[in-house]
Amino acid sequence: MRLSIVIPVYCEEMLIEQCHARIKKALESLSKYEHEIIFVNDGSTDQTLTILKNISSNDPSVRVVSLSRNFGHQIALTAGLDIASGDAVVVIDADLQDPPELIPEMIKKWEEGYKVVYAQRTKRKGETRFKLWTASLFYRFMRKMTDVNIPVDTGDFRLMDKKVVDHLRSFRERSRFIRGIVSWIGFKQTAVEYVREERLNGETKYPFRKMLKFAIDGITSFSHKPLKMALTMGIVSTTVGLLLICYALISKLFFTQTTLSGWTSLLLVVVFFGGIQLSTIGIIGEYIARIYDETKQRPLYIVEEEWNGKH
Ligand code: UDP
Ligand code: MG
Repeated sequence: MRLSIVIPVYCEEMLIEQCHARIKKALESLSKYEHEIIFVNDGSTDQTLTILKNISSNDPSVRVVSLSRNFGHQIALTAGLDIASGDAVVVIDADLQDPPELIPEMIKKWEEGYKVVYAQRTKRKGETRFKLWTASLFYRFMRKMTDVNIPVDTGDFRLMDKKVVDHLRSFRERSRFIRGIVSWIGFKQTAVEYVREERLNGETKYPFRKMLKFAIDGITSFSHKPLKMALTMGIVSTTVGLLLICYALISKLFFTQTTLSGWTSLLLVVVFFGGIQLSTIGIIGEYIARIYDETKQRPLYIVEEEWNGKH
């Protein structure tokens, strides 16, 4: 039996060695399994790749895949999962926010027969209130918006059985929301709980802008509800519009003296309906953009080089 650990890495030169060491240590108790550690270098601009190559020449279990540029966390993860050969595959962040010490516990659940073991955070240390709040809002919103049952407060830190990974590989959609896809795939899934640590060094590669994009990707790739909401908004505003028409006509025909003054109401109506129209077009646009992206059928990523001790 074989374990694969997949780690997407983007500009983590200060952490990468420590990360490798801690994972190695965590795997010591699992010596009955062979293991491979796959680092996916997601177009880092610092010394990350050099360090990774170094690590891999000293440790034959380390494989390095280097992408041709920065493709983003979810794609880097996909690149790693595509080549992982283990019977169980663990996905973990390089910044040690996800403790590798949890892996043996995950393996235990896997041995019990669970096909997906995801790590659920009970606490998140050292993150800004804003991040905590937006993250929590996102998970709850996501549950409301989609039909897939995505567990709250889980990231991509999880163990997946080979079977699940094989299915996952057949998902070639571009705007990827991997944790959603994994929930969609199903099988027996369970959680182990942990406290999410502070990032040891460097800073988050997910600024607000990226988080927002990620959230929109997550929702649009799993749900049509925004489109339905747009329709509802349209119906509501049409109803309001009809009432206003009645009001305008009646006051024109029967109460001639009350018409004409009406700058405020006119402005309100124009701004309100203008807003609804634009946001509805925006929602439709999000979906069209995704259709456009999918139809191009471009490859998800490009591998520049692979390193496996030798080359
Ligand atoms: N990462 C990546 N490509 C990116 C951004 C991030 O491979 O474009 C990696 C990063 O090196 C880390 C993991 O994805 O190993 C999670 O990123 P980060 O810790 O910045 O996210 P956060 O924990 O703040 O959500
Ligand atoms: Mg992190």
